[in-house]
Amino acid sequence: PVRVRFAPSPTGGLHIGGVRTALFNYLFAKKNNGTFYLRVEDTDQTRFVEGAEEYILEALEWLGISPDETVGKNEKFGPYRQSERKDIYKKYADELVENGWAYYAFDTAESLDAHRKQHEAEGKTFIYNWHNREKLDTSLVISKEETVQRIANGEAFVIRFKTPVNEILELKDIIRGDIKFDTNLLDDKVLFKSDGMPTYHLANIVDDHLMETSHVIRGEEWLPSLPLHSLLYRAFGWETPEFAHLPLILKPVGNGKLSKRDGDKLGFPVFPLAWKTAEGTSMGYREQGFFPEAVINFLALLGWNDGTDKELFSLEELVEAFDLNRIHKAGAKFDPEKNKWFNHQYLIGKSDKALAISFSKDLEERGVNTDLDLERVVGLVKERANFVNELWDLSDYFFEAPTSYDEKASKNWKEETPELMQKVIVELNNIEDFTSQNIETLLKEWMTTNEIGMGKVMQPLRLSLVGALKGPHLFDIIEMIGKEESIKRIEKAIE
Ligand code: GLU
Repeated sequence: PVRVRFAPSPTGGLHIGGVRTALFNYLFAKKNNGTFYLRVEDTDQTRFVEGAEEYILEALEWLGISPDETVGKNEKFGPYRQSERKDIYKKYADELVENGWAYYAFDTAESLDAHRKQHEAEGKTFIYNWHNREKLDTSLVISKEETVQRIANGEAFVIRFKTPVNEILELKDIIRGDIKFDTNLLDDKVLFKSDGMPTYHLANIVDDHLMETSHVIRGEEWLPSLPLHSLLYRAFGWETPEFAHLPLILKPVGNGKLSKRDGDKLGFPVFPLAWKTAEGTSMGYREQGFFPEAVINFLALLGWNDGTDKELFSLEELVEAFDLNRIHKAGAKFDPEKNKWFNHQYLIGKSDKALAISFSKDLEERGVNTDLDLERVVGLVKERANFVNELWDLSDYFFEAPTSYDEKASKNWKEETPELMQKVIVELNNIEDFTSQNIETLLKEWMTTNEIGMGKVMQPLRLSLVGALKGPHLFDIIEMIGKEESIKRIEKAIE
């Protein structure tokens, strides 16, 4: 059965790269009637950040892609927090030492530094591996008795992986195809640290095995770890899961990977939810007014498509269409404008009724009381909105008379305009059936009969009512505002 995982380290707010990894795991699990679980990789206590774990779960919930199993939920293979699995890992590290796949190392930070400097002086880079093992302070060099003695004396040690020498590993990745790695270029990574905690590498492989992970779908930044991980499976004699490394998400402009800081620098969110730190709050999609469905949709298309031009997918459609083999190798450029476009598509896809409900909440927060037909207002302006929170700016004149008039547009305000507007007031006053259609017919009739140019009336009229030359069909506006209020606004404009 398919069992995939999202394995974040709670070191801060999860940015969209991480969210996309979670999403692709979710889609793959659902597509294959499998399980999507979340494991908290918190073995590096120096990088632990308070609140990050809660943030991650809340973000996934908001997006509608919560895991099937995680801390506190269907803990079939629990605990799901690595810090609570501490006792499990040492046993596995010991097993590797016993089988000759790992060794104790007692090198101090100072001695490693000295080795590094020595190499630099010779114009070489120091790699902790077979090139140097003989010269280092490890159980590969000292006797077993001495090793046991030094551990008993409480000397600090780590356990390192003994990378095999002279081997070309031929590995498979679902997205990248066949990849070769020369083991002579790998270093002997630390598996177990002096603080009694495993490193990411050991804990990750042990848990992926114990939690019966079938596929490892993760960011491309983990590709360099693939040879070590695959060797660890070999060392333990375990079946290796399949791997898929997702392409990087690139900055909208310039080169390189999108970073957590890019968002605030360029003024768009790269976090699902606002993330508060001592330095300030980073914008979040939720707080900016994005719909979770829109965020899911554009994230899914960062590095994947279904082979057609189709861009709009509901979560269900994504599950249906998703295929790991269709993920691109090349990095995907992150495009904030496109994000807004997606949100606009979801906004106009909603019923006026649903939008009116969201808009009424927004109005309440702004302290606006109204008995206008909000469904109608929303219907008139939504084509121009990307977000619910933009509806107000697009429609404020329905609710309040303008307090100022757009200067540029005032050029259309001529000497004869006040007199013309007086006449418009008279005409409006005479209209009984005050509907958009009827107002339009009657005013146009009046203009034609009296040979008054349309432009001379329409623009100043719009300016009087709206305060600028913006907004939907003028006669719709007049009907919505009503006879009395329209006249009041015109009178004020010609004062
Ligand atoms: N804890 C790692 C991370 O923070 C997990 C990498 C993996 O999926 O193997 O991304």
